[in-house]
Amino acid sequence: MKKLIALLAAVFLLLPGCGTQRTPDTGYTKYSAQFYGTFDTVVQIVGYCKTEEEFSRYAGQIKSRMEELHRLYDIYYEYSGENNLKTVNDMAGKAPVTVREEILDLIEFCEEWYGKTDGKVNIALGPVLSVWHKYMARYSADPTDAKLPDMNILREKLTLCNIEDVIVDREAGTVYLAKEGMSLDVGAVAKGYAAELACREAYQSGFTSFIVSAGGNIVAGDAPLDGVRSGWGIGIQDPFTAQEPGGGNSIDVAYVRNTCVVTSGDYQRFYMVGDRRVHHIIDPDTLMPADYYRGVTVITPDSGIADLASTTLYTLPFERSRAMAEAMGWEVMWIFADGTVECTDGMLPLLRDRGGATGLL
Ligand code: AMP
Ligand code: MG
Repeated sequence: MKKLIALLAAVFLLLPGCGTQRTPDTGYTKYSAQFYGTFDTVVQIVGYCKTEEEFSRYAGQIKSRMEELHRLYDIYYEYSGENNLKTVNDMAGKAPVTVREEILDLIEFCEEWYGKTDGKVNIALGPVLSVWHKYMARYSADPTDAKLPDMNILREKLTLCNIEDVIVDREAGTVYLAKEGMSLDVGAVAKGYAAELACREAYQSGFTSFIVSAGGNIVAGDAPLDGVRSGWGIGIQDPFTAQEPGGGNSIDVAYVRNTCVVTSGDYQRFYMVGDRRVHHIIDPDTLMPADYYRGVTVITPDSGIADLASTTLYTLPFERSRAMAEAMGWEVMWIFADGTVECTDGMLPLLRDRGGATGLL
């Protein structure tokens, strides 16, 4: 049954008709497609091409690359004939594992950014996060008697979360987790990192006017080739209505091209303990969900960095979060629990309601 669901989920839906929109004066047509089965989410692709055949080729290229990266970065399942992050986790404390370059690149990318961003996003936090994942899975399905994990257990797990114990040997092409019980969790960054690789490669192949959304993790290419618009409108989810049927409203719309828009929020994965919303972004210093914001949206040209940045900024108090965003040159919107919204100066001109979307003119 699981296999069947996985198979169905992997079916690629190209949507001719409803996914096709002619723009006769430019010679380009707008096409769209979507597929399931990678990174726990739906991937939607919209792009302008001369022919449907051309669009299908690019969409297929993005799909197969996302599938390949999903297999490599999967921490739950292994795939025959291929070492992936699950293999690395299973071999913790035992032996280095030979892996593909994409795994070495992702780990080194995360190590580099760990150093630059106060160590808030730590891919070695697996032992702590897996406790939270178990609670999340159990109590989001049935909130009866929902509770928080035991702090003593979380503290004990933290002793196995030192990123210095993740040993990458480029020459040997291996990764080794130096202590038994260690594990990597790349949930904060892998989806954005994979989307970046897949979209960059498709762009280099000639797919230039597109927008790809991997579960709200957006990569925007050149402007739509409709002869009218100079950017793509990206709705920023209103966290206060996210649970409403149909997914709720946008709190604003960002107009962008050649950049990425990624959001971290407390409404994406959570369970309730009484009135308290217990969500999936864990502050490694308190070992509890970070509670400064309902949502943080980052705009920056690299989707891997945007994904890591939104999770990082989410775990930092506002002054520090804002200072980091400004120092890094990220454009950011923070949405607080009382509904207040703050933005970096460069974010405002990109926004339709707050800044008139003048930034792209
Ligand atoms: P995102 O939705 O990109 O903000 O990432 C959230 C996911 O990242 C969670 O579901 C966890 O798998 C993982 N995660 C949560 N907190 C951390 C953290 N402090 N460091 C690294 N990964 C984390
Ligand atoms: Mg993230």
